[in-house]
Amino acid sequence: MKKYFILILLMLFIKGDTIMNFYENVKQVKNPSDILVLVNKNNRLDKSYVPYDLSNIDTKYANENKMVRKEAKEAFEALSEEAAKEGYRVIAVSTYRSYDYQENLYNYYVETKGLAYADACSARKGHSEHQTGLSIDVEGSTGTYDEFGETKDFIWMKDHAHLYGFILRYPEDKTYITGFKYEPWHYRYVGKKAAKEIYDKKITLEEYLDKIH
Ligand SMILES: [Zn+2]
Repeated sequence: MKKYFILILLMLFIKGDTIMNFYENVKQVKNPSDILVLVNKNNRLDKSYVPYDLSNIDTKYANENKMVRKEAKEAFEALSEEAAKEGYRVIAVSTYRSYDYQENLYNYYVETKGLAYADACSARKGHSEHQTGLSIDVEGSTGTYDEFGETKDFIWMKDHAHLYGFILRYPEDKTYITGFKYEPWHYRYVGKKAAKEIYDKKITLEEYLDKIH
């Protein structure tokens, strides 16, 4: 009897230590319009969710008409303006994405690059933070988002984004928590208070909200 008890304890321990349970026990997001909403591989937005206050970022700060929620728009414009003033370029290139758009994008990656690739760099429908209207992919002086990590603009962004309420959402060493590979171009608006704490403590939004799956 005691032997089985120890065995069960051991199994629970191993299970608890294994964090790779992405897309399992998925929960429906209940606070989609909360600035601190958590959307990831274990928390899904409803197909019908569209933020109520989407606004266009001034095209001075974006590559074309791009929409995010009003609070994120104002913060990003201030950030991009200050970056320019200091000689850097931080421009929005991908912002709000609808449920249907994300579904097509993910399926495109699955068809062209396979499931593993698609899951590492794209989100399944309802699981993209871009549907919250609080996420912004940026480009710098090189003009493509996927080179942003190599630019001086990124070095500026790393230490200034939080002052405007944005966080680097998918850091290099946190893939086991976020479920996404390193994305130096993807920023998430969480408000100044949360952004400062996340930046100071070098943690993720999951850790800040104490919800690691
Ligand atoms: Zn992104």
